[in-house]
Amino acid sequence: MKSKIWLSSPHMGEQELEYVKEAFASNWIAPLGPNVDGFEKDLETFLNHGSHVAALSSGTAAIHLALVILEVKAGDEVICQSMTFSASANPIVYLGATPVFVDSEASTWNMSPEFLEAAILDRIKLGKKPKAIILVHLYGMPAQIDKIQEIASVYGIPIIEDAAEALGSTYKGRPLGTFGDIGILSFNGNKIITTSGGGALVSMNEQYIKKARYLATQALDPAPHYQHSQIGYNYRLSNVCAGIGRGQMKVLQSRIEQRRYNFQFYKKAFAGINEIRFCDEPGPEYFSNRWLSTVIVEEGTVTREDLRLALVEDNIDSRPLWKPMHLQPVFVDAPFYGNQTCDLLFEKGLCLPSGSNLTQPDLERVVQCVTATLEKLQPVEK
Ligand SMILES: *Cc1c(COP(=O)(O)O)cnc(C)c1O
Repeated sequence: MKSKIWLSSPHMGEQELEYVKEAFASNWIAPLGPNVDGFEKDLETFLNHGSHVAALSSGTAAIHLALVILEVKAGDEVICQSMTFSASANPIVYLGATPVFVDSEASTWNMSPEFLEAAILDRIKLGKKPKAIILVHLYGMPAQIDKIQEIASVYGIPIIEDAAEALGSTYKGRPLGTFGDIGILSFNGNKIITTSGGGALVSMNEQYIKKARYLATQALDPAPHYQHSQIGYNYRLSNVCAGIGRGQMKVLQSRIEQRRYNFQFYKKAFAGINEIRFCDEPGPEYFSNRWLSTVIVEEGTVTREDLRLALVEDNIDSRPLWKPMHLQPVFVDAPFYGNQTCDLLFEKGLCLPSGSNLTQPDLERVVQCVTATLEKLQPVEK
């Protein structure tokens, strides 16, 4: 059996363990401490643009708190990109609110500004203005931020920017996660950097950050005894995990470069193959961290599934693109606005191995497997 090639596995640098040891040596084994403060500072420095950061236990927790801070309540509606991971949408339901899903557009695979506006107008007509918009930057590709922000501001609806997959990506030179009224990041094991599990809430609004820290630590009122005037959560990041994060911040830049290299390598290797298409950066204002390298397998004799199964056979991990939320059994009743752009992406799209720890022979093995499969299944040219 050939060695396993993973889709996107953790990639430690040199200093993570030092920070973790420090946490042990000082007995800061708690969901607060110097590593948490340090990690938040590191993120603030990286994101620049005056953003403040609260480190949390997961990206999902960050989205949940973002919705609470924006005062989403039971019975409210929240707009969410349909093509995403379920964690973008689940917290809407935690609060008893209803997700309203919006299709993608073809150039970035992220939220379509046209369908966003159509959704807002229709929901208002039906009697409810959406309370927030959850915008996602899939696989690290920046969404059409200017257009989305313009629509959001016309109707006065705040944006939660789900940059879980997009740390290190930029739009017009500005880091993703800093555009939304609230941005969120994830440091789950499969992301571009990891704390084994973790997330962050980002905002220019310091009150939001204060509120996030308060809600994430059981909503403790200032008093010598335990007093609560609001329902709280236990969502802060462990000081041990934050130590991993501090070490990972030292290598983030090189991780971005390696992931972008993976993408370029695949793109060059498949350049002569008509059936394989990539999602290119639509213009110079878009810079993707290429968290995952993805391909579209255009209609022909070879399908996405053919390629995926051939990769499985070769012990290579790959995955169809995210299955849109409006196609998920759990969300069948949720409203959807679109024309099936993301349905087709799901049908034809495949995520290839994309870790920053892939070796050159690993990348070549993936390419070899894909090209051999295409040749085998292709009808002979006349
Ligand atoms: C990973 C991810 C999340 C959730 O982050 P966790 O830290 O795993 O909770 C949210 N949204 C998107 C788009 C993601 O990829």
